[in-house]
Amino acid sequence: MSIEKRIKRRKTRVVMVGNIGIGGNYPIVIQSMVKTKTSNLRDTINQIKDLEKVGCEIIRVAVKDEYDARAIKEIKKEIKIPLEADIHFHYQLALQAVAAGSDAIRLNPGNIYREKEIKAIVSMVRERKVPVRVGVNSGSLRGAVKNNSQPISTRMVKSALNYIRILERIKFYEIMVSLKASDVLNTVEAYQRMAKLCDYPFHLGITATGLPFEGGIKSALGIGILLAEGIGDTLRVSLAGDPKEEVKVAQWILSSLGLRQFGPCIIACPTCGRAQIDVVKITQELEKKLLSLPYSLMATSPLRIAIMGCEVNGPGEASDADIGIAGGKHCAVLFKKGKIAGKLKEGEIISVLVQKISDLIFSLRKD
Ligand code: SF4
Repeated sequence: MSIEKRIKRRKTRVVMVGNIGIGGNYPIVIQSMVKTKTSNLRDTINQIKDLEKVGCEIIRVAVKDEYDARAIKEIKKEIKIPLEADIHFHYQLALQAVAAGSDAIRLNPGNIYREKEIKAIVSMVRERKVPVRVGVNSGSLRGAVKNNSQPISTRMVKSALNYIRILERIKFYEIMVSLKASDVLNTVEAYQRMAKLCDYPFHLGITATGLPFEGGIKSALGIGILLAEGIGDTLRVSLAGDPKEEVKVAQWILSSLGLRQFGPCIIACPTCGRAQIDVVKITQELEKKLLSLPYSLMATSPLRIAIMGCEVNGPGEASDADIGIAGGKHCAVLFKKGKIAGKLKEGEIISVLVQKISDLIFSLRKD
C-alpha cells in the first residue's frame, strides 16, 4: 500500500484563507513569511512574487506598525496568493490589517489577550469572513501558563485552549491553531495533545530552527512526525535564510511522505567506489535545469527520475522510475517506464534526460 494511503489525516473543520482551503480534505498547504519590512513595498512585493514562483501558497507578513498594516492594501493588488497578517501586542493593528484586505490574521495569545480587544477583532473578522490563527509560541506565553511546573507542551496547549474558549463564547469558529516551540519534541507533544482536544485545522511549524541545513532537518523531523500521524493542514518551515528555501524544504517534507507531489522527484544513489559516472554532478545539473522550468508546469508532473552510478542497484532503481539511468563505462543505460530505451554517451546524459523529461511532462499534460 502506498504511504499516501497509509496516512489517515485527522478530521478537521475547514477554514478558508482567501481562496485556499485549510483542513478537511484539502491538500496540506505550504506557507512562508516575508523577511522584509512589510511597508517597504517594492522589496516585499518582489519577495512574495519570488515565493509564488517556487510554489508558496499563503504568505505571512509581519505587521509591526500602522505603515505595515496600510501596506497590505497595495501588496494585495500585486500578488496572487492569500496573505496572513502577523499581529502582536496591538489589537488595533489587527483591525487595520483586516480593513486593508488581509485574508487571515495570526494572533498571539501571549500578547493580545484582553477580552474586549479580542471581541473588537472578532466583530470585524466575522463580518469580512477572515479566519484567525491562534498562534501560540513557547517563547511568549503569559499569565498562569507562563511559569508553572507543568511541561511546556501542556502550557502551550492550555494557552491555545483558553483563547479558543474566548472565541467560541462569542460564537466564532473560523480558527486555525499553531503551537510552536524551538524544541522538536515539545512541539510534537503539544500538537499531539491538542489534536485530541479540538477539530480546528493546524498550522504546523518548529520555531527558530536556525540556518537552512540544521533548520531543515529539525523541521523535517518535527513536522514529519506529525504529518505521518495525520496531524497538520498547513505548514511553514522557519529558516534563518532565504524564504524560498522554506518552501523547498516544505515541498520535500510533503513529497517524502507521499502527501503531495511537486514535479519530478530525483532519486540519486549516494555513489561509492563502483560508480562509473559522476552522479553528483549529473544530479545537480539536472536539478538546476528542471528548476528553470515554469513551476506551474512542474507542479503537475509527478515523475520519478533515477540517477544511479553503476549496474549493481542501478538497473533496478532506474527501471522502477519513469525515467532513469544506470552508469556504465563512459556511458549510461537509459530506462523509460521500466524498459531499456537506449545507451547514452557520458557527455549527452544531461541534455537527453532533460529532453525526455520535458517530453514526458508534456505528454502527461495532454492526457
Ligand atoms: S548504485 Fe552503484 S555506484 Fe551507486 S551506490 Fe550503489 S553500488 Fe555504488
